[in-house]
Amino acid sequence: MLNIVLFGPPGAGKGTQSENLITKYNLVHLSTGDIFRSNIKGETELGKKAKAFMDKGELVPDSVTISMLESEVEKYPNAKGFIFDGFPRTSAQAQALDQFLTSKNTSITCMLALEVEETELIARLLNRAKTSGRADDADVNIVRNRITVYNRETAPVAEFYKKQDKYRGIYGIGSVEEISNRLFDAINAVVLN
Ligand code: ADP
Repeated sequence: MLNIVLFGPPGAGKGTQSENLITKYNLVHLSTGDIFRSNIKGETELGKKAKAFMDKGELVPDSVTISMLESEVEKYPNAKGFIFDGFPRTSAQAQALDQFLTSKNTSITCMLALEVEETELIARLLNRAKTSGRADDADVNIVRNRITVYNRETAPVAEFYKKQDKYRGIYGIGSVEEISNRLFDAINAVVLN
């Protein structure tokens, strides 16, 4: 299997790049943010639990997020691989994912981390608010909080994959196509190795 953690701060371009990666490598795209948003829209129990956290730019608790992610993976028993987009976002989630994939006789192939500086992120998110309809994009204080939470809780997850020699940093500024090509090159280098 080809299991990729697509990593990076809010606004780094994970969703956009995921689309190109799933087409090229025939993978299943699991975006925890998208799954939460569709649950909020459908007014499910999970959506109700997640909404208060998301509205503030805080993380949804690990217990909720981990069990949701695992049940999503279970829906695709014949997948050739997954793009994990927005997960893992804490060290506990990274550990849980490793254990879960081991129990399925598979593992993470690599973490591809989109690197974009903070001023560019804030500009992109506020711009995205015009079309995304996402309240967490529209308010600069919430945007800043998401980046603060990222730096505090999520950035350390990179260390987890660095220790396993699975981390690959990708420069995240340029055209969508240029960045896709950087990602493809990184994947090909890992897979052919
Ligand atoms: P972005 O990457 O642009 O911040 P996402 O759509 O990935 O947006 O996430 C939106 C929100 O969903 C996050 O701010 C958080 O509240 C929640 N969320 C998404 N993934 C996770 C996760 N793995 N753990 C906890 N909360 C999450």
